[in-house]
Amino acid sequence: MEKKLENIGEKDLLAVCSNCRKIRVDDDEDVYLSKEDNQELYDKYIKVYEGNLTYGYCPPCFRKAREEMRIKRLTIGLSQ
Ligand SMILES: [Zn+2]
Repeated sequence: MEKKLENIGEKDLLAVCSNCRKIRVDDDEDVYLSKEDNQELYDKYIKVYEGNLTYGYCPPCFRKAREEMRIKRLTIGLSQ
């Protein structure tokens, strides 16, 4: 379901990727929007959800971070 831009409730949070700054605009479908995709809409979301932002990783950044972690572990001699 696409996130609302009006009448957001207290529990509504907007997920922001702390790495690439994409925002999750659809919680069910895991749809992320970047500023480059649509700056106007992006800014609108940020404005509406100001104070209700939660930070994490979008799926590609999560995979990248996990891979980097795996390499780091191998480098210092830990098994996977
Ligand atoms: Zn990301």
